[in-house]
Amino acid sequence: MDNAQTKDISLVGGEIQCKDKACKDTAISFSEFCWKHTPDKPQYTERLKNHLSESGSGKGFILRKVVMRYADMIKVNLKNADLTQADFKDANFSYSDISGANLIGCYLEGCDLTGVNLESSDLTRANLRRARLWHADLSKANIGEADMTEADLWKCQMHLIRLWHTELAGVKSLTKQNFSKKIYGFITSEKIDEKGVLSAEESYRTLKQYFMQSGRYREASWASFKEKTMEKLWLRKNMNLAYIPMALMGTLSGYGEKPNRVIFSSGAIIFIYSLIYYNLNAIADARASKVFSFWDYVYYSIVTFTTLGYGDMVPKANTGYRLLAGSEAFIGAFMIGLFVFTLSRKYSAR
Ligand SMILES: [Zn+2]
Repeated sequence: MDNAQTKDISLVGGEIQCKDKACKDTAISFSEFCWKHTPDKPQYTERLKNHLSESGSGKGFILRKVVMRYADMIKVNLKNADLTQADFKDANFSYSDISGANLIGCYLEGCDLTGVNLESSDLTRANLRRARLWHADLSKANIGEADMTEADLWKCQMHLIRLWHTELAGVKSLTKQNFSKKIYGFITSEKIDEKGVLSAEESYRTLKQYFMQSGRYREASWASFKEKTMEKLWLRKNMNLAYIPMALMGTLSGYGEKPNRVIFSSGAIIFIYSLIYYNLNAIADARASKVFSFWDYVYYSIVTFTTLGYGDMVPKANTGYRLLAGSEAFIGAFMIGLFVFTLSRKYSAR
């Protein structure tokens, strides 16, 4: 038995076929068989649990389809392990390192994953219903098609996570903050994995819907802005002409999500028009001939932009100058409308 055990340990992380002749599965770590053909499963799980809690390391272990419900595996090391379709329902993995691991289709319903490092792990189609993920690290992980129903994501790090067709119904404590990356306490970026532009667009839409349902309109606004940004990138990539109005709306109003942008771009438009009037010497005093300073042109630009039109200063009698002033009034009216729209969209319940 002793001999067999040393031999078994040498299998750790190896890719060896199950001893059962008809079986094509890979043998799991600590066994010469796959999980299905491993004899005396309770003894096997007991040995595995002891090994993980004593020596601590299960780095690169192959534990495909292993069933270990309600197991206590606190602070274990399962870095880069293969846990495909394993069943750990209601297990406790608090503060464990499961980073870079393969958890495709893994059954983690009701698990305690507090403080767990799951960075870059693959949780595609995993079941994380009711799992507790407080302070867990899911940065760069893949939770595509995973079921997160009623999972608690309090302070869970999800920067650059791949979210695609993920079930988010009833998820708790999910905010924009989850997707942020902080350097020295400052948020440097807030985003999910955006490599696939179309799937990122869809994922942001899912997030927007989630935030709207939970009444978090500011966060929904962020997700909506991101969704539109992805759409714009996609249009640019495909050289679609719809890119131009899309990019313009993005710059002018953040796709109707950022009223500040409307104010800044209005200021910029007024300033640019002032410069043009100034350089063309396009404006005259309505009553007397007068030399204007640059600030007089800024004043004229504001009066035109807001369609106020006092009439103390007028464009010189030239069709070009009149059209120029008219175009500013047109843009101004549009921008004021855009501002009201953006403001109401941002601060009301849509
Ligand atoms: Zn087998």
